Amino acid sequence: MIDVLISGAGAAGLTLAIDLARRGVSFRLIDRLDVPFSGSRGKGIQPRTLEVFEDLGIVDRIAAAGSKYPPQRLHRGDDSYRDEQNMALEAPIVGEPYRTPLLIPQFLTELAMRNRLAELGGAPEYGLELIGFEQTNDSVEAQVDGANGKETIVCRYLVGADGGRSVVRHALGVEFPGKTLGIRAIVADISLDGLPRDAWHRFNDGDMARQISFCPLPHGDVFQLQAPISHDGDMELSVEALQSFIDSRLPIGKITVRDVAWASCYSMNARLAERYRVGRVILVGDAAHIHPPTGGQGLNTSVQDAYNLGWKLDGVLSGAPDWLLDSYQAERRPIAAGMLGLATGLLEKARHGDMRRGREVHQLDVSYESSQVSLRTSKPDALLIAGSRAPDASIRGAAGQPARVFNLLKGPHWTLLGYEVGGGTVSSRQGLHVHTIGAGGDYHDDQGHFSAIYALKAGDWVLVRPDGYIAGTAASDGLGALESHLSAVGVV
Ligand SMILES: Cc1cc2nc3c(=O)[nH]c(=O)nc-3n(C[C@H](O)[C@H](O)[C@H](O)COP(=O)(O)OP(=O)(O)OC[C@H]3O[C@@H](n4cnc5c(N)ncnc54)[C@H](O)[C@@H]3O)c2cc1C
Repeated sequence: MIDVLISGAGAAGLTLAIDLARRGVSFRLIDRLDVPFSGSRGKGIQPRTLEVFEDLGIVDRIAAAGSKYPPQRLHRGDDSYRDEQNMALEAPIVGEPYRTPLLIPQFLTELAMRNRLAELGGAPEYGLELIGFEQTNDSVEAQVDGANGKETIVCRYLVGADGGRSVVRHALGVEFPGKTLGIRAIVADISLDGLPRDAWHRFNDGDMARQISFCPLPHGDVFQLQAPISHDGDMELSVEALQSFIDSRLPIGKITVRDVAWASCYSMNARLAERYRVGRVILVGDAAHIHPPTGGQGLNTSVQDAYNLGWKLDGVLSGAPDWLLDSYQAERRPIAAGMLGLATGLLEKARHGDMRRGREVHQLDVSYESSQVSLRTSKPDALLIAGSRAPDASIRGAAGQPARVFNLLKGPHWTLLGYEVGGGTVSSRQGLHVHTIGAGGDYHDDQGHFSAIYALKAGDWVLVRPDGYIAGTAASDGLGALESHLSAVGVV
């Protein structure tokens, strides 16, 4: 029996697989596709996801394969245009090393993830489709079908990372309420002549029947075409068909399509699963929530679902109480509900040509304040309350080397940070790293960044979860509460 079967090797499934692989949890990752998905689809990586990617060891590869967002070029009917930078391009600050979304086609993000998974000894199994499952109190028996026929995989947990039409969600009978937004759209990766690559070109903005845009994808000659289309009838996706589609919206001869690498039509929906967990079966990513692409939230939310789930699955498999796994839905479902509202609101603005994006899409302010994992007895004067994202800060190792708080958090462990603590600490335990920062500590706060950003006083402690959120803070006389909390979440 394996610990976890992940059905679906998209962004959510791959993130979970990387996290489980680095934790030594046994898993299989299957996908019904014969080869990896090859489209650009979710091309915006938000700052919080870049932090997750840093922890997973892929941020620099992703950044190298991506680029900054180009300005939007709003073409007018008379051949003139106006450039606008809709994406707030903000310089890093000490606490937030990534503050600007990155542009990278989804297939390259997933390639970097597969390469990382391979380094950890894992790989997706393509051409294997989940066709059904049954669960008992102790395990799940999943039926899969592939080139070698049918197979039964027995696992402790099954994770449905199988996208918006999730077979797992349907088989569980979990409702997927929401609405169809009345917009059908085409998205296609095309090579073309006629447009410079220094801008994201938008034509006929605000006119839903004729709107069309071309976003240059990094490091090549491909543009991502996006446009609303009619609800009726099939649309051909050949070079010739896309050429005549473009010619129907732009002056003939303006753009010549040379090649179509990938194309797809889809209807926009905003839907949220009623439940994320039924017994030993759990939903992540688009299987749990779907939404319009405006605001670039879907892939990011999917990655962060999986990142929230990985350490909790590892925990319960190692003896943590079951409520820890329930906290996955309690924490992530409200985030998805908020994201659906955001993406739908941005879609409404986009209908009128307003494409501005700011901090609201960066996902840096996601918080799990009301979660059971957030310790309520936290220090009342703490700036960063339990449930907030743990920020970065530059510090210096006692040996003299430059260091960052994110270096200390990197990896699958919990982290306890003490600031200017004299003596006393929690008992050592597997899965917990303890560091002291300040005079006499193993790291020095030589620029005062750590105490300023975390708003700590001498003697304070901060407990950080494996996914980089604060579980609790305490003054030295409250250390016992942090210690009890660690035991309660199974870190013993
Ligand atoms: C035009 C467009 C633009 C977008 N832009 C952005 C953006 O800028 N930023 C952003 O964050 N998001 C964006 N998104 C959304 C993003 O693409 C999705 O949210 C993301 O792909 C979800 O990842 P996932 O892993 O949950 O699901 P998916 O990527 O759908 O992966 C699911 C996988 O499960 C497999 N599968 C399905 N059924 C089975 C089965 N029975 N057995 C085995 N395998 C199965 C599928 O083959 C697939 O590989 C965009 C989407 C579109 C359409």
